[in-house]
Amino acid sequence: MKTVTSYYSSGDYAKESTKEVEHHLDKDYLFRLCFTVPQEQFLEYIQEVLHQAGIDASEIDGNLVYLTDSTKPIFSAHLDIVGNDFSNPLVFKGNTVKRQGAILGADDRAGVYAILKNIHKIDNFILCRDEEIGAVGSKVLIKIPEFTEQIAQHPCVIVLDRKGNSDIISTNNSYCEKDLVEAVQIVLPNYSVATGSFSDANSFREYVPCVNLSVGYYSAHSANEYLNIEEFLYIVSKIGELNGIEGEFELGKIKTYNYPSYSTKTSSKPKTSYKKSYWEDDDSGADSYYDKWWKDSVSPKSSTKTEVCVFCGKAVDKSLVATYNKKHACHDCLTDIFMQESYL
Ligand SMILES: [Zn+2]
Ligand SMILES: [Zn+2]
Repeated sequence: MKTVTSYYSSGDYAKESTKEVEHHLDKDYLFRLCFTVPQEQFLEYIQEVLHQAGIDASEIDGNLVYLTDSTKPIFSAHLDIVGNDFSNPLVFKGNTVKRQGAILGADDRAGVYAILKNIHKIDNFILCRDEEIGAVGSKVLIKIPEFTEQIAQHPCVIVLDRKGNSDIISTNNSYCEKDLVEAVQIVLPNYSVATGSFSDANSFREYVPCVNLSVGYYSAHSANEYLNIEEFLYIVSKIGELNGIEGEFELGKIKTYNYPSYSTKTSSKPKTSYKKSYWEDDDSGADSYYDKWWKDSVSPKSSTKTEVCVFCGKAVDKSLVATYNKKHACHDCLTDIFMQESYL
């Protein structure tokens, strides 16, 4: 069996896409970190991890912004996940990973991982909070004139927040024009234009051409959510090359849609609810999970006697959990951490 590195650099991906690949994600500290805590805590961890790597990103109202080279693309992903239930363990099976009985959170921690894993190969990133409740974080950012002026200098924003293995959400969503799609396809020849739902690119597209690319997750917002490891590692392996996209691209031409108007005279209630239209492009089951999540977050359950180890994701009895930099970790993971010389 080939190693992941040789597999993805050999160009065999398209030919052998159904083959099981060897991977080490189950032992990858960064991967574990991406799948263990809600966004507020996650932001703290990321800052610490980046600090260790010598990268000082700016926190702006819960978003993390790092812009160093305006000739290079900006990579973007969102920090929040639907559900916020990290208590169940990750289950690795064959070429997939999911969370036992709960939402995995690959939407969009897969995107965040892809960025952090390539931190030394890229020059700019924006990690946004609260995308799932209406791109709240990116909407805060674009209200800052200095921010929009700055992002407008860059060739493009590459959002990593799309299900599947080959979508470029782009022209159909007014994110960009064909020129940027073609530049992306030089790096990702198996990817093609698709129509997607809402993402942080909806905030950025007015100032800079954007694309939103598949990162290998499926059935997002549902307990069936899973990540196809092979497809995920493929896009992870391409980030460095995507960072090489240069030039001036056209902004997407914003199409105007005629949304049905809800007259107060004829109807007391709109036929389509906000939630339904917001998720209409997602896989089935999204509505019910979104509803459940909403209910849970409004009335959170009382805490249990177990703590989740932030590194392996397992729920561990409180008495067996140690504290590492104010975070809970099981003893096995703590040992691993102290053995490691660097985080990334
Ligand atoms: Zn989502
Ligand atoms: Zn998402």
